[in-house]
Amino acid sequence: MYNIALLPGDGIGPEVMEEAKKILIAIGEKFDIEFNFKQGFVGGASIEIFGVPLSDETLNLVRNSDAVLFGAVGGPKWDNLKRELRPEQAILKLRKELGLFANLRPAIFYPSIADSSPLKNSIINGNLDLLIVRELTGGLYFGTPRGRENIGQTVRAFDTMVYTSDEIRRVARVAFEAARKRRKKVTSVDKANVLETSRLWREVVEEVGKEYPDVELSHMYVDNCAMQLVVNPGQFDVILTENTFGDILSDESAVLTGSIGMLPSASLGDKKPFLYEPCHGSAPDIAGKGIANPLACILSAAMMLEYSFDEREAAYCIRTAVEEALKKGYRTYDMKDGAKKVVTTQEMGDIIRDIILNI
Ligand code: NAD
Repeated sequence: MYNIALLPGDGIGPEVMEEAKKILIAIGEKFDIEFNFKQGFVGGASIEIFGVPLSDETLNLVRNSDAVLFGAVGGPKWDNLKRELRPEQAILKLRKELGLFANLRPAIFYPSIADSSPLKNSIINGNLDLLIVRELTGGLYFGTPRGRENIGQTVRAFDTMVYTSDEIRRVARVAFEAARKRRKKVTSVDKANVLETSRLWREVVEEVGKEYPDVELSHMYVDNCAMQLVVNPGQFDVILTENTFGDILSDESAVLTGSIGMLPSASLGDKKPFLYEPCHGSAPDIAGKGIANPLACILSAAMMLEYSFDEREAAYCIRTAVEEALKKGYRTYDMKDGAKKVVTTQEMGDIIRDIILNI
């Protein structure tokens, strides 16, 4: 039996989470897997009840689970709170508390939604299937010192980009392990021509690469990578990179596939529970309308089955069902171009569930 903490959050979070839960129940039935779901409050929903974005109660629930499925947090209602009280702190604190140092974001192109991609078909050429492994707890976003100071009439602001060899080594291993299960290619992305942290990054990744002689390793500067993603995305298998570069490149690769509503992610650490979440936010502009795309959350549940529970057949079943639904022309509103039938959030969940139960 797997204990799963469900943290729906705000906006469209609860709407897409409901559909992911529906799919997991169907998978449980089909593959004879028992899931025990426990739900907790995060983000704005938690602020309303506990006055903080992540309560000790939710943190305990998470610590006692085997895996966490997270919806999305945030919304205009809480935008004016102090930084440490804002809903988005919930996800940052969870990453920190659970030691989730590696963020995995696959970008897969589904031929049936080619019209939703900003790239020409001739560039994608039917073969966009990459995985970004982003370091999540180090680098510029966490380095100290950071701050601002007044120097005469001028204001000086500063951040620190810092990495240790241990931090680089552990995330590099995640990337090489992932590549072993895929097409066995790692492209490590850095800015070693300018940054000291990148020079260390390259050295350590080279070292780790020697432990994986079956995986081909190459290096690329981040500016070139940003360009290569739009001129020849098919060349990539696993992209390994540090926090800031990964933040930017993963959003770039996200839009290549069509809609942000399609993109799942996994955050892994040294020990379980790991956390899974759609890449999108709480989308307050469409919340409550029943039109959100639930596929990113459903595909995040598939990643959970694969990475936390090694239930690869079940994960594959979800992905196949998603592909099948898209092939049949079912789309949510965000991908309405080329749709045979535009369906609601709930209808999309029902369609995927029915395909799973009938495959
Ligand atoms: P967003 O991802 O919520 O929305 C961007 C655009 O994409 C919107 O037009 C939205 O309608 C659309 N969209 C997003 N997900 C969709 C889906 N599943 N189906 C259909 N359309 C979808 O980003 P934003 O507007 O910049 O942020 C809104 C709120 O979400 C903010 O409070 C922000 O801080 C928060 N946020 C939270 C997370 C998280 O919880 N991990 C991540 C990003 C943003």
